Amino acid sequence: MAIVPINMQEGKIAEEKRELIVGIDLGTTNSLVAYMDGDKPQIIKDPENGTALVPSIIYFSPDGQILVGNAAKKYLTEDPQNTIFSVKRLMGKAFGDIKSFKNILGYQIIDDDTDSLVKIRVKDKFYSPIELSSLILKELKTRAEGVLDTEISKVVITVPAYFNDTQRQATRDVGKLAGLDVLRIVNEPTAASLVYGLGDTKENESTAPAKKVAVYDLGGGTFDISILEIGDGIYEVLSTNGDTFLGGDDFDRAIIDYWLAQNIIQSKEMEADKSLGQSIRLAAERAKIALTENDFFSQEINGQLLSISRQQFEESIRPLIEKTIDLCSNAMKDAKLVPKEIDAIVLVGGSTRVPLVKASVNNFFSQADQKSGDERLKDYINPDETVALGAAIQADILAGNNKDTLLLDITPLSLGIETIGDLMDVILPRNSKIPAKVGREYTTSVDGQTKLKVAIYQGERQLVGDNRKLGEFILTGIPPMPAGLPKIEIGFIIDADGVLNVRAREKRSGVEQTIEIRSQYGISEEEMGKMLIDSVRNAKDDMKIKALLEARNEGNHILYAIDKFIHQNPDILSVGEVMTLLDHKTHLQEAIDGVDKDLINVRIQELNDFSAPLAHRAMDKTILDAMKGTSV
Ligand code: ADP
Ligand code: MG
Repeated sequence: MAIVPINMQEGKIAEEKRELIVGIDLGTTNSLVAYMDGDKPQIIKDPENGTALVPSIIYFSPDGQILVGNAAKKYLTEDPQNTIFSVKRLMGKAFGDIKSFKNILGYQIIDDDTDSLVKIRVKDKFYSPIELSSLILKELKTRAEGVLDTEISKVVITVPAYFNDTQRQATRDVGKLAGLDVLRIVNEPTAASLVYGLGDTKENESTAPAKKVAVYDLGGGTFDISILEIGDGIYEVLSTNGDTFLGGDDFDRAIIDYWLAQNIIQSKEMEADKSLGQSIRLAAERAKIALTENDFFSQEINGQLLSISRQQFEESIRPLIEKTIDLCSNAMKDAKLVPKEIDAIVLVGGSTRVPLVKASVNNFFSQADQKSGDERLKDYINPDETVALGAAIQADILAGNNKDTLLLDITPLSLGIETIGDLMDVILPRNSKIPAKVGREYTTSVDGQTKLKVAIYQGERQLVGDNRKLGEFILTGIPPMPAGLPKIEIGFIIDADGVLNVRAREKRSGVEQTIEIRSQYGISEEEMGKMLIDSVRNAKDDMKIKALLEARNEGNHILYAIDKFIHQNPDILSVGEVMTLLDHKTHLQEAIDGVDKDLINVRIQELNDFSAPLAHRAMDKTILDAMKGTSV
């Protein structure tokens, strides 16, 4: 089974012809798009000013305009409430996952106290990270279409190696929502390795031992180290490590701290005058960038001379760099390798331009061995472009232009199961390599539930009704437990012949049930093509319905929880509080009966705001009672 080339404009299976697929790096700080110009990957630059990077920032203006990229950057300090940055950190995350850092984001993230995915509130609208990221992706699509003068419908998108299933699926949805067919999600370190041809083997070398590659990626806000093993065209991630809050932004802060320590600037003044604060922050970044080439930086800001030498800068960032080296060391331990076993070290991310970073990484990998790190060190002149260039190379391979690269067998359409609200939950995404074995854990939604229906679907649409049903079975004999407690693993196993086995297993009790599906390829390529095109065409509506259904599910979940709460805590609630809770419940129920997802979200938030302190009171009482119980 090979990739079916689809012509998105005409809705037909494309003829065998050279086709343009672009590669996209959706970064935390900056995003880029690249394509293959002959056999050379090229970044697509802004035709007006020649810039390659699109800052991953979105601004919602008071008059309803949406600005993306450089145009949005200045609003970070001018209008932080309505300026979204670092949305990649929120992809596929629940509120509980991001609680610890939500305060550093200037915009509003909704705490609905549930484990559903986060939402961002801008004025009276609620957005998912998927919707926000798709705005950045659309900007890149528009840029590429303008420069290349052709419509772009297919892309390869990169993600960090540590992204989980949910985060990868979210990234696929970003593409779909931007009107693009995401042919593949590629790991960022894999893309970077492609740029240096590290996976290439000459014919007579096909038995060559696998290469071990370390990819050191220091961006604006995150640091990732990945150790890969590359052989026979397979890129295996041996280990990953990193720090999701360490990057170039911290270098800027280190410079500001230096100026503060020198009494050149005052923190009080910076806080009082936001625009002065912003100018100083920007000056710090300029200083950092200048010190890559020069030994000294100075500039006058507001009548104050800000200066710093390369040496002073290096002293102030040394601890940060040492931290990244410690993490490299951990990654090497996890991969069970020592530095001299590494065949190549790839530097990625804008912050690896800093000479001390390069030198430190080089030093770590060449320590105590004869090999000099230098000859193994791969650093492109523009390390912030590497990942996008690699994505373009991968795209070219998928387009069939690179005949030397073998395409492995893959699944032509996504496979998944039906979850609450008739939604499709993809377990094995389209274009996954087979054979494959994947699993995901689910739980029950009602107290005492003993049965679970598992319905298997194939297709790209958000609602199962629009996809193709492959089969279903019922897992019975789940021991009665409170909702949310059972751990039910649904596993998908596809063998080399494409036969799909689905297994559901309740982990606590061990009850299980399986089904074998042989007919998943029983559709023609025409039909398959149509399904793909429909999914992109309907992405916007699908996502809307999905958001509404999810809001309803969440609302119903909360109504259920509130009932239980009132029932279980009669003695700590006043009559007035119960009345107010019931009022809120009615309002939420009304919203759920309607079709406005934003209204449902507003009502959920109101109910949560009111009930949170009551829940704390109930918790305190439980703890108090428990303590009473244990005292002698
Ligand atoms: P991300 O992958 O997180 O989106 P990038 O790889 O684009 O980020 O890196 C952005 C960071 O690189 C920013 O902190 C920026 O200041 C920094 N940077 C860019 N150019 C230089 C330079 N010449 N010297 C030092 N840092 C740089
Ligand atoms: Mg990056």
